[in-house]
Amino acid sequence: MNQARRPLIAGNWKMNHGAASGVQLASDVARTTAAFGSVDVVVAPPFSALWKVADALQGSRVELSAQNMHPKASGAFTGEVAPGMLLEIGCKWVILGHSERRAMFGESDAVVAEKVKAAMDAGIRPIVCVGETLDERERGDTLNVVKRQLNAFLSIIADKPGFAAIAYEPVWAIGTGKVATTAEAQEVHAMIRASLAAIGPAMAEKTRILYGGSLSPKNADGLLREPDIDGGLIGGASLKAEDFSKVAETAQKIAGQRLVSRPLVSS
Ligand code: PEP
Repeated sequence: MNQARRPLIAGNWKMNHGAASGVQLASDVARTTAAFGSVDVVVAPPFSALWKVADALQGSRVELSAQNMHPKASGAFTGEVAPGMLLEIGCKWVILGHSERRAMFGESDAVVAEKVKAAMDAGIRPIVCVGETLDERERGDTLNVVKRQLNAFLSIIADKPGFAAIAYEPVWAIGTGKVATTAEAQEVHAMIRASLAAIGPAMAEKTRILYGGSLSPKNADGLLREPDIDGGLIGGASLKAEDFSKVAETAQKIAGQRLVSRPLVSS
């Protein structure tokens, strides 16, 4: 992590927790992360729980995210939810291009880009996911695949440096307990940072790049100390407030140590 960017810890609940248990979990997250003022904390419940969870988070520092959205503003799209509908219930963020949506729901790079544009236009902050499959990694294609995914949307998020976040999530690490090594993750994060720098210094300095894939209290310290890892997108470990808040606590601790080791220069 780098002190120029506030750490961001986001929980992707996937298809877990309805409104009743979601309100409980969100309230526990708000309480257990309240003291971590250097860290931005986000939770992404399923659509059906968003309204009640938004209420439960009122007055807390925890921000609300959706897990997906349709790019159009309204119309005949049965089963879909529009950007304006998410804004209306208090979503500040939306996760886009998650590998489960790419693999199971056929979302191409072009579809992800269309959604990213719709989110940016609506004023919802996208967390855009990229990452290679095990096959692609074993073929030595990791950097090419992630570059291709990035290139589909980088120019779209360049309009507002720092507004969007990018999550590097190696598909083989999601929900498997097989976490990327710090070196494997940092290599890809550094490539993403260099791609952002090619657009301009503000993009590189302000855009948070999260790691996702079996991130937990056990491995967070090593990963979050890498210079280009600015936080985490967490699935399994976000379903227990205690585990999730321990990762946020780790981010808070590292952010504090960075400030002490590199104090701000006063003139
Ligand atoms: C995710 O689905 O975004 C994710 C990172 O899941 P997990 O933490 O369970 O690997």
